[in-house]
Amino acid sequence: MSAQQGPAADLIIRNALVWGTDAPQDLAIFGGRYIAASESGIAGAQEIDAAGRLCIPGFVEPHIHLDKVLLAESVPVNRSGSLNEAIVILGERKATYTVGEIAERAGRIVTSAIANGVTHMRTHIDVDSGCGLVPIDALLEVRRRFAEVIDLQIVAFPQLGIVKDPGTAALLEQAMERGADVVGGMPFNEAGTADSAEHIRIAFEIAQAHDADVDMHIDETDDPNARTLEMLCEATVEAGWQGRVTAGHTCALAAYAQDYADHVIGLVAQAGIHMITNPATNLMLQGRDDDHPKRRGITRVKELLARGVNVSFGQDNLRDMFYPFGRDDPLELAWLTAHAAHMSQPDEIEAVFAMPTVNGARVLGLSDYGTEPGCAGDLVILDAYSAAAAITAKADRSYVIKRGRVVAQTETRTTHDLPVLAV
Ligand SMILES: [Zn+2]
Repeated sequence: MSAQQGPAADLIIRNALVWGTDAPQDLAIFGGRYIAASESGIAGAQEIDAAGRLCIPGFVEPHIHLDKVLLAESVPVNRSGSLNEAIVILGERKATYTVGEIAERAGRIVTSAIANGVTHMRTHIDVDSGCGLVPIDALLEVRRRFAEVIDLQIVAFPQLGIVKDPGTAALLEQAMERGADVVGGMPFNEAGTADSAEHIRIAFEIAQAHDADVDMHIDETDDPNARTLEMLCEATVEAGWQGRVTAGHTCALAAYAQDYADHVIGLVAQAGIHMITNPATNLMLQGRDDDHPKRRGITRVKELLARGVNVSFGQDNLRDMFYPFGRDDPLELAWLTAHAAHMSQPDEIEAVFAMPTVNGARVLGLSDYGTEPGCAGDLVILDAYSAAAAITAKADRSYVIKRGRVVAQTETRTTHDLPVLAV
């Protein structure tokens, strides 16, 4: 191309090793979307040399509670460390919720997540008689504020139950009308089986009325008698919502007897349900009351993958009354998931890397995730040459690009006077 013609692309990334391909290639973005980078090479208004480093179309965070992040800064310590005590502490803190302070906390974590390479996020936001729609309004504000730099899906999440907490069904309906994207649920938190079924029925009714996906917290308990995953599978097929339903946590699946677990995994596969494991929170919360040997609390990741089920992972809680750590770094969570799910072989490590990338994109229903022409112009250049190396080093996100614009850069420097520095 001659200089007179001007640049044909807004951004060219040279020598990008796109994860899942064998050799570096040039990528071109114009008008916020990928276009074909011709063999002869086109010019860009801006050019970045990835130098053969690993590139992905961004990390996808499919399960985080942005209304609760950083609450550890302003609540009493959860002395038992249990899920139940956390919910009690949260209930008291909600009395002081305002749109502004929730948006401020959520905004801080969205900002750091973007620097960690997260380009898409789905967040579960409480809807109940205690907090009403204040958290939903806060996240709608956050979504507006960050619209240019991250795509955010909001799940209206009835954590205190729908039957158990009168008025919540109407609040869920209002949340969807105001702009929430996905109908959430927590059917195990009801008084009994009939109410759990009613919880699921109401959620699907609202989802169908709004043509929305469903994403529920399912059986977040060590109790092997919890049965709401099977109920969710039945409701999904009955509604014809295959591929549009996600089940988070599903800790009880790990506690089931093998024959029942096999049966339920078969139902999950048939219903096309996406599964999210949240190892950080669940390794911390589950199995606490066991005598040794203690259960690990995370769902049956390898068994689900072996049956062709789409599995991703999320941060879930972050520095709140449920979980004291976390910085929403998908590479940190990949490292943890590999350990918690016993995924150590080379192909298993690649499978772990798929979870916050292509698998997460399927959970969120992203049709334009990728680097092919027409896809959204999102890219993260990792300072590593393989998925395993990226996970090992929690590699720098050298460049985070959203719709063709560089939105964050990280470069960690170590100086030393040693003969060899192993990396
Ligand atoms: Zn959760």
